[in-house]
Amino acid sequence: MNNSDTSKTPASASVRRPQFWQVAKRCCQIAGTVDVAFFFLFHLLGSPLLAWVNVISVSMYILAYQALARRRNRLAIALIWTEVIVHAALGTLLIGWDSGFHYYLLMFIPALFLSMPLRGALAALVSLWGFYLLLDVLMWTGEPLQPISRDALLAVHLFNLSVVFAMFSYLSFFYLKIVSSAQRKLRQMAATDPLTGLLNRRHMIDLAERELARIQRNLHPIGLLLLDIDHFKLINDNHGHEIGDKVLVEVANGIKAVLRSQDLIARWGGEEFLAVLPDTNLEQARASAERVRQALMQQRWSFDGKSVAVTISVGVSEFQEGDELKSAINRADRALYRCKDDGRNRVEVCTDCEVTV
Ligand code: GH3
Ligand code: MG
Ligand code: MG
Repeated sequence: MNNSDTSKTPASASVRRPQFWQVAKRCCQIAGTVDVAFFFLFHLLGSPLLAWVNVISVSMYILAYQALARRRNRLAIALIWTEVIVHAALGTLLIGWDSGFHYYLLMFIPALFLSMPLRGALAALVSLWGFYLLLDVLMWTGEPLQPISRDALLAVHLFNLSVVFAMFSYLSFFYLKIVSSAQRKLRQMAATDPLTGLLNRRHMIDLAERELARIQRNLHPIGLLLLDIDHFKLINDNHGHEIGDKVLVEVANGIKAVLRSQDLIARWGGEEFLAVLPDTNLEQARASAERVRQALMQQRWSFDGKSVAVTISVGVSEFQEGDELKSAINRADRALYRCKDDGRNRVEVCTDCEVTV
């Protein structure tokens, strides 16, 4: 089987839409419970044949639930389809269109599009539509095979309508939850660096520019730190990329732990981090940078029993009037270069900034 074939199997659909199969399981529970209620309802209404149909239905939902639990989604779908179609058809043929059993068929429409690839869903939709029309025409032209009294029919009708309403509401609510959580995840993925969980470069630029506009209007200072791990390439070379990644995560955590919650922190490049510190002047920013450097220096850097030498250098600048994000970052970058030239593991402030502050 080639790759495109595999993508069309229900197993891959369960990987793509795991929440759908969760909701399918829940629907089996609800539908099974409703059918238990039907068993008693039809006994009360004097229709034992229909009552016993529900015993078969409940068994099918139990089997479908077990199939879903074992990820045998194709089998589960076949069981659920068969149950709903046969049950809806039998209910309608036996006691009439007004029983409302046909409404259950409509619940398949959203489920079809969620559970299978588009082409299959469209084919199933057309078949469902044809079946629904056929049932409707049959009941227009013929009489129910086992009619029940008008009052009993009204009770069944109201019961079915209420169950369909409740199921649709539940499915819609669940669908909304799935969509909202997917959107939240997407937004988070688009905004963060997957390794360290910090803001990514693009999102940092958006937020920093917004912060810049907001704070500069009120003439509050904003400090800026560009933090770079010293000789990181050597860490990778000597200990491997995996340890290198762990160092990146730990450094990110260390920076986050020292800075304040209102500070924006991003992974700016490979082993480089950018922090924007609102309401912080150059001297305060330098003190923050020094605290981060000290904290990371005092940390015990040991992975899988191997100790690793980790230090950082930090270039510091402050936004000035009329500054753009880029120019302020360039000044911090110049300060960072000086750190590297002067031997690393240090904090340097941009001299241009010192003149104007
Ligand atoms: P300096 O002290 O001058 O900053 O030297 P450096 O070795 O830290 O800087 P350099 O720019 O020479 O090397 C950075 C290295 O960071 C090179 C690159 O392979 C590595 N790197 C970038 N991104 C990642 C990553 O996500 N994971 C790991 N493990 N390494 C990365
Ligand atoms: Mg470096
Ligand atoms: Mg670097």
